[in-house]
Amino acid sequence: MVLRMSRLMLKTLRDAPADAETASHKLLVRAGYVRRSSAGMWTWLPLGKRVLDNVARVVREEMEAIGGQEVLLPALLPREQYAATGRADEYGDLLFRLTDRKGADYVLGPTHEEVFTQLVKDQCTSYKDLPLTLFQIQTKYRDEARPRSGVLRGREFQMKDAYSFDTDDEGLAASYRLHRQAYIRIFERLGFDFRVVSAVSGAMGGSASEEFLAPAAAGEDTFADCPACDYAANTEAVTFTAAPGDAAAVEHRPVEELDTPDTPTIEALAAHLGVPASATLKNLLVTVDGEITAVGVPGDREVDLGKLAEHLAPAAVALVTAEDFADRPDLVRGYVGPQGLGIRYLADPRIAPGTAWVTGANKPGRHAANVVCGRDFTVDRYLDVVTVRAGDPCPRCGTGLRLDRAIEIGHIFQLGRKYSDVFRFDVLGRDGKPVRVTMGSYGIGVSRAVAALAEQTADGAGLCWPAEVAPADVHVIAAGKAVQTALAEEAAAALHAAGLRVLLDDRPSLSPGVKFTDAELIGVPTLLTAGRRAADAVVELKDRRTGTRQDLPLPEALSLLTPPH
Ligand code: ATP
Ligand code: MG
Repeated sequence: MVLRMSRLMLKTLRDAPADAETASHKLLVRAGYVRRSSAGMWTWLPLGKRVLDNVARVVREEMEAIGGQEVLLPALLPREQYAATGRADEYGDLLFRLTDRKGADYVLGPTHEEVFTQLVKDQCTSYKDLPLTLFQIQTKYRDEARPRSGVLRGREFQMKDAYSFDTDDEGLAASYRLHRQAYIRIFERLGFDFRVVSAVSGAMGGSASEEFLAPAAAGEDTFADCPACDYAANTEAVTFTAAPGDAAAVEHRPVEELDTPDTPTIEALAAHLGVPASATLKNLLVTVDGEITAVGVPGDREVDLGKLAEHLAPAAVALVTAEDFADRPDLVRGYVGPQGLGIRYLADPRIAPGTAWVTGANKPGRHAANVVCGRDFTVDRYLDVVTVRAGDPCPRCGTGLRLDRAIEIGHIFQLGRKYSDVFRFDVLGRDGKPVRVTMGSYGIGVSRAVAALAEQTADGAGLCWPAEVAPADVHVIAAGKAVQTALAEEAAAALHAAGLRVLLDDRPSLSPGVKFTDAELIGVPTLLTAGRRAADAVVELKDRRTGTRQDLPLPEALSLLTPPH
């Protein structure tokens, strides 16, 4: 079909929406691909729907190529299906909840592990029914706190979610590998610049997990990348192990108590004493399942509460509140030190035995210097909990890490038996005994991928789609005069006949300048213009990405564009 712009519902905009911050948000709205419907909700207009469908097609083809079977489950789900795994609570405010006319509770699915587990439990009873991979491309709902950046983070969005079911760990590993390879093919075909990085599993649970990240300034994820080896990980997943220290190996002066009035913060303390923040030991108080616990990190470091919670899961971790302090006179807010402290002490591995610190003296307005780990206090458990910084050592080779921003476009998990345990999903094994099924789950942000691609490929003039996802293969422009229109029509018909997808700018009474500007903004990979030399049947071919142009007789231009059969 030739898509005629004279009839296409398309209104390009000169100005971006006032609240748009990212290039993809601005351009997808300006070029008429999407339109905001309400906060975090987007309407896909004709051009946008084509790109979205192209992404979905590539995803579907590659999922089918690894044996995935497509299904479609409801998005509206009885709440009790989520209650069984505790995720209704875990997801908290992220979950859209509603009630039907009979008062029964429902949620709009944010992801579907529970429902798939129950579906397959119902359908598969024997090891002969497995391995099995099911997938769907479906609308998901998450009541995101900050739905922003256009379709990059919607409250309603399209996701491809897949689930694998195996009877043993080797099977799960094989299913995971297949998905990983399919994802690499998908993101290559879509035209992404992407990295596969180690990730933490978060609310999903389970063990191994990797993220597919598209480096982009607009990204909300930060990943660490080693310039020397192939290590790459989400900053939340970077691990740090200090060289083992020895408290007795170094001679240290005795502990010295210092008068440090009004220095409850590390900055104030470091300035008062004239020492770097990295020489001080900061002790954060948290509750772990209600029990007050101290976490020690170097003063110039931040505690990553997400990492901490991950280490201590399933225990609940929270910052202490004023009430927690109320009946604990031994805990002096702002002046806590690990020496002589009667609570559990967790610490970053940098607080190694033999290291000496300036830290709180557990008295108001006082600090202690030369407090030595292993001599003056002991660490109950070492945990890697600090926020990673550029230059931190690569866990694999020790080289200083680089930090980059990226958009998460896919995430794969080896869930293991977390969900099959909850739903007691066994199948009959080869030996006639029941075996517990093991699962993987695999997501791709289909709608997010559209914006992420726009983010990575757009230039100053507009969008610039990779071939697989572009709304058309060729954008044919009729400059305006009758002879130009006739030649453009001829070109469009020939390209269409050769199997190409054509966008034809046949809008009457628009200046060529307006048409060219729109064409750049819309971003179809090849522009074919019937312009100045149309009377001689010569057209101009332009590559949207490189800007290269050439004048060619129409038949030659056509033979360049149409693949030989
Ligand atoms: P994020 O950290 O960005 O919130 P997530 O880790 O919660 O994402 P997953 O649960 O792993 O997301 O979902 C699978 C995929 O769905 C993600 O990799 C991402 O591409 C996409 N996705 C998640 N949330 C959204 C959203 N609000 N809007 C658009 N796409 C999303
Ligand atoms: Mg994720």
